[in-house]
Amino acid sequence: MSNPVSHTCPTCGHTWRHGHSGDHNCTTRLVQQRGELLAALEAIAEWTERYTKPDHPISTVARKAIANVGAL
Ligand SMILES: [Zn+2]
Repeated sequence: MSNPVSHTCPTCGHTWRHGHSGDHNCTTRLVQQRGELLAALEAIAEWTERYTKPDHPISTVARKAIANVGAL
């Protein structure tokens, strides 16, 4: 069995080539991903509230997730 071409951190998704150092900080990447996801959820909630009915299920679930994550 041959070695893999690359490796992927199961915690944060960081990838590195086989034989190279996989040293990295999961927290840095996870915090960045958290910000991107919150921004996407905010955009989804705003779009849904603008173009559909008030309290649409999509905006409700997005707002609930934003509130839950923001409460950490
Ligand atoms: Zn990682």
